[in-house]
Amino acid sequence: MVKVKVDTLELNMYIDGQWTKSSNGGMRSVINPATGEEIAQAPEGTVEDAKKAIQAAREAFDTGVWSEVPAIERAAFLLKVADKIDERAEELARLETIDNGKPLREAEGDIADAAACFRYYAGIVTKPDGETYHVTDPMQAMVVREPVGVCGLIVPWNFPLLMSVWKLAPALAAGNTVVFKPSEVTPITPTKLFEIFEEVGLPKGVANMVMGAGDVVGDAITESPDVDMISFTGGTKTGKHIMKKAADTMKKVSLELGGKSPNIIFADADFEVAVDFALFGIYCGSGQVCSAGSRILVEESIYDRFVDRFVERAKQIKVGAGLAEGTEMGPLVSQQHLEKVLSYIEIGKEEGARVICGGNRITANGYDKGYFVEPTAFVDVNQNMRIVQEEIFGPVAVIQKFSTEEEAIQLANGTKYGLAGAVFSNDGAKALRIIKKLRSGITWINSYHPTYNEAPWGGYKESGIGRSLGTHGFDEFQEIKQININLQVEPVQWFEK
Ligand code: NAD
Repeated sequence: MVKVKVDTLELNMYIDGQWTKSSNGGMRSVINPATGEEIAQAPEGTVEDAKKAIQAAREAFDTGVWSEVPAIERAAFLLKVADKIDERAEELARLETIDNGKPLREAEGDIADAAACFRYYAGIVTKPDGETYHVTDPMQAMVVREPVGVCGLIVPWNFPLLMSVWKLAPALAAGNTVVFKPSEVTPITPTKLFEIFEEVGLPKGVANMVMGAGDVVGDAITESPDVDMISFTGGTKTGKHIMKKAADTMKKVSLELGGKSPNIIFADADFEVAVDFALFGIYCGSGQVCSAGSRILVEESIYDRFVDRFVERAKQIKVGAGLAEGTEMGPLVSQQHLEKVLSYIEIGKEEGARVICGGNRITANGYDKGYFVEPTAFVDVNQNMRIVQEEIFGPVAVIQKFSTEEEAIQLANGTKYGLAGAVFSNDGAKALRIIKKLRSGITWINSYHPTYNEAPWGGYKESGIGRSLGTHGFDEFQEIKQININLQVEPVQWFEK
């Protein structure tokens, strides 16, 4: 295995334009999941830190230092951020890899997408966005869009920089101020992004970053009456908690949550293409992707052949440290998450499902300190099993069989989630017919996973509320104001003199 020694980074939070430690001096170790070694020390933020950040964001919003900056200037700022991300792409990708564990080629893709996301929203913000309405004379009605105010942005660890950018770029483009919390597990690249914000001269207080535990810092942000909106990406359980807490102050909420997405493969699909995308759908990111195609539904007539070929290919996937040459799949993000994924593999076995490949932790070749798991697949499953119903968020697929379109749809929609889904078929009408029946927000035909800054991302059912990306993702960070103008200014004469 490749030994990558890096000096331990000392991270700080960014509050009101200042790099700060935790108010109680607490720190948290950040671990490289490939080696189990400490790579950074991060401040363990407190409620007091969160309050300071919220106050700074509130003041910055209320004084208009950002919301009243002309859109073209905000766009110029976003473009500079994008350029700086590009300039530092190599450094950022390596840091993402040692923090999250993902193979370098995945991290490089994320960093490029992050820069592109800033450019996309820099473009959007200067485009026409108002509306006028044909109401009764002499009135003229129109609508303008305004920033929501102070936005609390809370993100997970699976795409540390990219998930941050999916929120920060549209929120800032729209003129909001923000209190941002990265995952406590992966705070490194978000810190680098805030260094870039400082470098390009974002006014102080506009973007604040507080690190730390969800039930401390996250709760403080969600509960605060000075925060107008919460945009959250993470698990469904946390999302429900946030929604309940946010209700007390009637915050706007946008929730991007978990998934258990179906990948439906018909006998008339291009067989090798379908196998290839099925592998990519579940094992990319070690299965730690919200949209992962973790339920592979295969038409009966090709089921056995499909399983054989899938297993043959899954066994060839090169699992290793993200920085090691040739690595195709990295470790899981943390010891805690490793234990969760391994426990689901045991649950599957106890439920009577059969492991057809993988199923074990990898400790050979010096990987015993890292959190590596083999690409794993179960067969002989039924719809009621926990491994079919619950999000495992690891490299674990279930491969199910169907015989009719109706059955495929029923199985596909048969969980509480509704994030993503795909259909593989060379019958275009059938593929679209099935897609239209899927209760999912993100779908693909003859593909899996591609995501675009231009197109809305989000789920149905317990996979969330609202959308990220595209113009819909921009709408989330805006209020709509109706303005009615009287074009003939004379008394209404409703009451007699
Ligand atoms: P998580 O819900 O445990 O944590 C996400 C974030 O929420 C972290 O920053 C965490 O500190 C914070 N948090 C935890 N408790 C909180 C609380 N009480 N109040 C406020 N914030 C709190 O999720 P995770 O394990 O970091 O990420 C994995 C999950 O994220 C998976 O379920 C995955 O599907 C989901 N996810 C969804 C999308 C999407 O676009 N739908 C994208 C990426 C990840």
